[in-house]
Amino acid sequence: MAKRDYYEVLGVTKGATAEEIKKAYRKMAIKYHPDKNPDNPEAEDKFKEAAEAYEVLSNPEKRQRYDQFGHQGVGGSAGYGGGGMNMEDIFSQFGDIFGGGGFDSFFGGGGSRRTKKGTNLRVKLKLSLSEVANGVEKKIKVKRQKVAEGVTFKNCVSCQGSGQIKKVVNTMLGQMVSASTCPTCQGSGKIVDKKPANADYQGLVVSEEVIPINIPAGVGEGMQLSLSGKGNEIPGGIPGDLLIVVEEIADEVLIRDGNNVVYDLYISFIDAVLGASVEVPTIEGKVKIKLEPGTQSGKILRLKGKGIKELNGYGKGDQLIHVNVWTPKELNKEERQLLETLRNSENFRPNPGKSEKSIFDKVKEFF
Ligand SMILES: [Zn+2]
Repeated sequence: MAKRDYYEVLGVTKGATAEEIKKAYRKMAIKYHPDKNPDNPEAEDKFKEAAEAYEVLSNPEKRQRYDQFGHQGVGGSAGYGGGGMNMEDIFSQFGDIFGGGGFDSFFGGGGSRRTKKGTNLRVKLKLSLSEVANGVEKKIKVKRQKVAEGVTFKNCVSCQGSGQIKKVVNTMLGQMVSASTCPTCQGSGKIVDKKPANADYQGLVVSEEVIPINIPAGVGEGMQLSLSGKGNEIPGGIPGDLLIVVEEIADEVLIRDGNNVVYDLYISFIDAVLGASVEVPTIEGKVKIKLEPGTQSGKILRLKGKGIKELNGYGKGDQLIHVNVWTPKELNKEERQLLETLRNSENFRPNPGKSEKSIFDKVKEFF
């Protein structure tokens, strides 16, 4: 199922303020809350969809990533049914929306319990220049902790499922009740009842999984993409995230400079004088370029649009070709004689005119 735009889901504009987003979400959460729509899977989907949209748009960092990368940037590829948010996540978010008491108190319900989150997994992903330039779909193999099949949970015996241990303390002001997180279940209220033999004491097994991810064009060294819910699972809680850190593999001949690609071309002194047609490598393979007769060393040629796509999808960088004239270091007798005859020729004397820009000007012009 194609994911809807988060702004569209909440019915707000792209420029909406945090307060507007909160308000829009509050409205939807009330409208589609499962308590008000029992046995209505459509309402539940809407409820989850809105919660996911709010989860991203209410977090400035995630919102920025979403604006930049779309759903991929915030781990949306799996869809909210799979790797997205579960009900526990959603309810834990309500404290923030409906004031300190949370959604339950807003609706006059009982207490809410703390949600545990599994640990994040972090993997490095090496990308070649052409993968960075055009984007790529990768399959990432990870070992993640998952709740074993067949594990059942029961209410925690220490806290009777409340997740909190309450203690009555006598103070000068009278009796006071202090509540602290239950150490047995770490606040989830649940402990493992039955589990298969291969699972550990928490009911977890390690499973190897292959997770597909679309890498957008234009990413760079050190950037981090996150797939929410693809990290380690935790019994009675929500799974952590899978964080993918981009590492660029340096290309042997092409050098990245922002969204441009720079190539150092060496031509012979003869080709520089007479002009030539030469092949140069680009990200998309070799292309032929024409050198004019009388090409100066240090000239910079531009291949428009042969660079790297911009991260947010518009525009593309160029390839810049730096022309270097190769001066031979060794000559045989005949070559030397041939060149000696040209030494005093008027045309071989350097005579830069006003039209010859200095290297400094050329570089300034291109960057
Ligand atoms: Zn407990």
